[in-house]
Amino acid sequence: MAKIGFVGLGKMGSPMAANLIRAGHDVRGFDVVPHALAAAKQAGITIASSAGDAASGVEVVITMLPEGCHVLEVYRTNLVGNAGPGTLFIDCSTIDLKSARDAHAIAQAAGMASLDAPVSGGVVGATNATLTFMVGGEDAAARRAEPILSAMGKKIVHCGPAGTGQTAKACNNMILGASMIAVCEAFVLSERLGISAQALFDVVSTSSGQCWAVTTYCPVPGPVPSSPANHGYKPGFAASLMLKDLKLAREAAEMVGAQTTLGRHAADIYTGYEAAGFGASDFSGIINHIRAQGETECA
Ligand code: NAD
Repeated sequence: MAKIGFVGLGKMGSPMAANLIRAGHDVRGFDVVPHALAAAKQAGITIASSAGDAASGVEVVITMLPEGCHVLEVYRTNLVGNAGPGTLFIDCSTIDLKSARDAHAIAQAAGMASLDAPVSGGVVGATNATLTFMVGGEDAAARRAEPILSAMGKKIVHCGPAGTGQTAKACNNMILGASMIAVCEAFVLSERLGISAQALFDVVSTSSGQCWAVTTYCPVPGPVPSSPANHGYKPGFAASLMLKDLKLAREAAEMVGAQTTLGRHAADIYTGYEAAGFGASDFSGIINHIRAQGETECA
């Protein structure tokens, strides 16, 4: 079993660290926010006195932080100077591609092994150890990470060299953001044309329009009882996080000159939803925004 330092004990990091402990690993965690530390302690995580302290004397350092600037700052200031040579750095945060590549470069220049390994599955997946990990980095580092990541997730895909985990994450969430909007438009259109939501669901869920946004996360109350639509659009996956990921996909597309028209348009639509005050709602709540905009245009 490995000695692991875990930095960033928020909504995702805390349950992920708790699952590592459940699997028998020795975990020391750190967060800058006192209430996150208190919650992590309650979950059985040993608390380090600083990020540097969490990184010293361990074989693996995992980060789960909000954005690229946080990851780079912690890598530079706290982690590489305190970790022993050859420590495996695994960044599970969802961050921009350039920062991910920079983080690899910082770690490797300091003699560390390093991976980007963002996740899909949200807080429920983090709690139930059913996350999907999208891994970028060298083969040897990915093989070393396998027993650690498998304690927190059910599927690990080694996508390729440094940064490809973040690329896969951006692509996946660009599909999800655009497909959720398409599904919401279809349900609003069918409402107006007099088809019940259940009838449309019964058709689409077994026809060629079928997708995760319909079958698992249906944005209208009724057809999928576990979807946030049945719980006042409480997240789930907050609209602000979807917008963050759509912006990361847009930035990545600009870096390589890829045309992502629908992805960009989805980012614009989610920008409007967030500006209307719904950033903390589940991203499937965009259906209410789409419905209300149509009503305004008809009035
Ligand atoms: P969060 O805000 O709950 O947790 C992030 C934690 O990092 C916070 O507790 C914060 O205090 C801590 N932190 C910030 N700077 C730090 C520093 N310098 N040192 C130590 N701790 C520091 O966010 P989250 O929901 O846990 O998300 C973490 C990452 O996972 C993000 O990149 C997010 O995009 C990604 N993600 C989130 C979800 C989700 O459903 N919440 C799903 C998939 C991916």
